[in-house]
Amino acid sequence: MIADKNLYSALPSVDVLLRELAEFHEPALPRAMLRRLVNDFLDACRKGIRAAGINSAEELSLENILPDLRKFLADKVRPGFRRVLNATGVVIHTNLGRSRLAEEAARAVYEACVHYSNLEFNLETGERGTRYSHVEKLLCRLTGAEAGLVVNNNAAAVLLVLDTLCKGREVVISRGELVEIGGSFRIPEVMAKSGCVLREVGATNRTHPHDYSAAINENTAALMRVHTSNYRIIGFHCSVAPEELRKISRDAGLPLLVDLGSGNLCDFAAAGLPRIASDEPTVQKIVAEGADIVTFSGDKVLGGPQAGIIVGRKQYVEKIKKNALNRALRIDKMTVAALEATLRLHTEPELAARRIPTLRLICVAEARLRQKALKLARMLRVALKTGQGAIQAEINVRAGTSLIGGGSFPERFLPTSLVCIAVPEFSAENLRGRFLKTDPPLAGRIEEDKFCLDVRTLEVEEFSLVGEALKQVCSAR
Ligand SMILES: *Cc1c(COP(=O)(O)O)cnc(C)c1O
Repeated sequence: MIADKNLYSALPSVDVLLRELAEFHEPALPRAMLRRLVNDFLDACRKGIRAAGINSAEELSLENILPDLRKFLADKVRPGFRRVLNATGVVIHTNLGRSRLAEEAARAVYEACVHYSNLEFNLETGERGTRYSHVEKLLCRLTGAEAGLVVNNNAAAVLLVLDTLCKGREVVISRGELVEIGGSFRIPEVMAKSGCVLREVGATNRTHPHDYSAAINENTAALMRVHTSNYRIIGFHCSVAPEELRKISRDAGLPLLVDLGSGNLCDFAAAGLPRIASDEPTVQKIVAEGADIVTFSGDKVLGGPQAGIIVGRKQYVEKIKKNALNRALRIDKMTVAALEATLRLHTEPELAARRIPTLRLICVAEARLRQKALKLARMLRVALKTGQGAIQAEINVRAGTSLIGGGSFPERFLPTSLVCIAVPEFSAENLRGRFLKTDPPLAGRIEEDKFCLDVRTLEVEEFSLVGEALKQVCSAR
C-alpha cells in the first residue's frame, strides 16, 4: 500500500498538542522534555503513515490522537523498575522481589534514607561504631548464638565464611547436599571461589557418619551441612543426624558450618500456625544443635530485606568480621534499618505472623482465601460490565495450591483459591502476556489451560487495580 501524502499534513502540530497537554500534570515534566517527547510521538505517527498502518485522516484527529499521546508519554516517563501485581501465589517469588517488607521496616528505610543516622557512630562514647551493632544483639537474642554479622546476601555470607575459615584447605560435605539454588548459586562453585577444596563424601542419597570421619585429615578445615532448601530426596536415603555430625566435628576439633538458606525464625507449630514447621528448621534449633556457624537469607522466610546473616560462636564470627572481604560485601544503611525493624517484629512471634507480609501470606487461612477469591470474582464481573470493551470474559473460582517459593519448604503446597479468567478470543498464554502489559502489570499463572489469579499473594486493597487491568485487557484493540 502506498502512503497517502496528504495524511502528513493532517497531523496536529507540536504546539497544538502542547496546548492540549497543558492539563497533563502527572508527573509535571519540564517544558523542553515534553516538547521533545511530543516530537518523538509525531515521528512515530509519521512512521505509521509511511508503513500505511495509519490510513485515514480520521485516525489523526485530535480526539483520536490525544489518548494515544497520553499513553505514549506515560510509558516514556514511567520508571523501568516498578510495582507488579503478584497473582502467582508464590509468596517468596525470586523474580518478583522475594519478600515484601513490613510497614515498620519500610518506614525505617525511609527514615534512614532521608536523614543522617548513627549508622557507624556510637552515641554513648561519641566515637566511631559499627553498622552491625544495630542488629547483632537482636540476632543473638533471637537465635541463641554468641555473635553475628550481616552481609549483602546469603551467597556472600557462605563465600565470606569459607574464605575466612577454610581458604586453601578442605571442607567435608555430603554429596546429597551439593545443591544449586535458583539464580546460579551452586555450593561447589562458591567453594571454588573461596579458594577451598571440596571434599565430597557419601552418595547422593545416602551418607553415613563414617563417611565424614574417614574424610578428615590434617588439611581439613571444617565440616559443612547445606540445607536442601529447594528439593527433597525421598525413598532410600539417609543423612547423618545433627548431633552425630556435631560429635564428629568436636572430636576432630573442627568447626561445623551450616548453610540454612531460608532462615526461618518462626516456630510455626508453636505459634499455632500451619504444620509446615517440621520441614523447615528454625535457626535457633540449628544453633542449639551445636552448629558453630549458621548462614541464612534475610529476604526468604525471615521476611526482611535482602541480606546474608551469619551467626555462631564468637571465636569464628570475630575472625569473619576482620576479613578484608567483609568490607566488599557489607550491607548498606537501608538494609540495616529494614533488618532491625523486621527482627524487632520477630521478637514477638504473634506480631511477626501478623505484621510481616511473607509470614502473613504463608499462614492465611484457607477459608479466608476462599472469601477473598469470591470477592475478587465479584469485583471483576462488575469491572467487565462497566468497562468499554466489547470483549467478554468468563470468571470462575476454584480450589488450587500455592507454593511458598524462595527455595524453602520444597514440595509443600498450600491450599488456596484461584480466580480463573477465560476469554474466548484469547488463549490462556495470550491472556497472560496481555496482563503483563497492563498498568500496573499483573503476573498470574496458567493452570489446566486457564489463566488464573491466586489470591494468596494479592491484597484486597489491590483488587480494584486487578479490575482495571482486566478492563485494559478487554478493551485492547
Ligand atoms: C537461597 C539460598 C542461598 C542463597 O541465598 P541468597 O540470599 O539468595 O544469596 C544459599 N544457600 C541456600 C541453602 C539457599 O536456600
